[in-house]
Amino acid sequence: MPVARIAGAAKTTFQHAGERRQAGSPFSNTPAWITCGGRKAILIRCYIAAVDRGSLGMRGDRGLRIGIPRALMFYRYYPFLKGFLEGYGCSVQPSPPTNLEILGEGTDICVDDVCVAVKVLFGHVSRLAHEVDAILIPRLVSVEKRGYDTFTCPKLIAAPDMIRYSFPHLPAPLEFIVDISSAPWWWGCIRLVRRLNLPLRKMAGAYLSAAREQDKYEGLLRDGLLPADALSKMYNGNGFARPSYLLHRDVTVAVVGHPYLLGDPIVNKRLIYWLDACGARVLGSTLLSEDELDKEEPFLPPLSWSYERELLAAASYFMKRDDVDGLIYLTSFGCGPDSLVTEIVRRELKPVGDQVLMEMVLDEHSAESGVRTRVEAFVDMLRHRKKVRSYAGRAG
Ligand code: SF4
Repeated sequence: MPVARIAGAAKTTFQHAGERRQAGSPFSNTPAWITCGGRKAILIRCYIAAVDRGSLGMRGDRGLRIGIPRALMFYRYYPFLKGFLEGYGCSVQPSPPTNLEILGEGTDICVDDVCVAVKVLFGHVSRLAHEVDAILIPRLVSVEKRGYDTFTCPKLIAAPDMIRYSFPHLPAPLEFIVDISSAPWWWGCIRLVRRLNLPLRKMAGAYLSAAREQDKYEGLLRDGLLPADALSKMYNGNGFARPSYLLHRDVTVAVVGHPYLLGDPIVNKRLIYWLDACGARVLGSTLLSEDELDKEEPFLPPLSWSYERELLAAASYFMKRDDVDGLIYLTSFGCGPDSLVTEIVRRELKPVGDQVLMEMVLDEHSAESGVRTRVEAFVDMLRHRKKVRSYAGRAG
């Protein structure tokens, strides 16, 4: 992923983690630091005490079943989380692909005024509730270090809390906390391991195999596969056929949106399928590497929301490519960050070629027929414009 790359995250320093601890309690339990002596020993004792505080006494056995809801950060970090937990012998169970029942259930349980992506999370948690020993929900606070403060969306920061208070009959969700502005990526792994009461000594092996899985996944995304297809290729065996939306065709449409919107056909109402059926080649924003996105940085206003900055950079990148005929900017109704970024895309970014921008706002009431009609009209228009341009070129 362009932000929060796991390898890069490891460059941050250990002291940040210590700074986050509350003064007092961890230290008072660890008098041994006085006798150990030395600054390094103090830091080590503080660190062990601090992570111990995070353990809630959950027993980490081989075969512990951990459910991961197929929503939000699932489409970014599932291979890493699965690899890491399996490295400890846990069995990882993702919830099934979203269907209308899951969407409906999530909509019923969740408050009205949040985006459809969060409502889907609720539906998936409900589906996993009685099938697993624990449900893991990432808490993404900040996923990169920049010269200014960066955050993810407030709903990604508060997702475990929303689940905890909406499902009071379930044990509190396991959290995988990422807060790169104050602690390295692997700190979240340590907290998770301690919460599960698993041995830290196994962490390096589990971490490395998880990072390899994540690299493999990101490699598939770079090849152009959309998140659901990349996951399917990784985990569903050999029979995976290369999707036809990657074929070179007379019209190319770039789709910019969060991976959980691009990756879930129930949420996006099979947008990618309809584009494919209309004969368009599809480039998803998930295919862009961190380097490609970073090159757009000088042309963009600074944004504190990392994932929205990523989408803005992706839109800017595609608008400069002359093989892209049209761009669809995909957002969720009720998404605060995207409502601002959509305006920036519309007002500040200028296509260098003849590309056309279409915004598509999705919610739980969106109908597949509505998306299909818009997509057909959009692709027809792009094709027509191309034809007109080519006649004009020949005549001129
Ligand atoms: S960024 Fe927008 S779509 Fe994503 S979780 Fe936040 S509000 Fe929902």
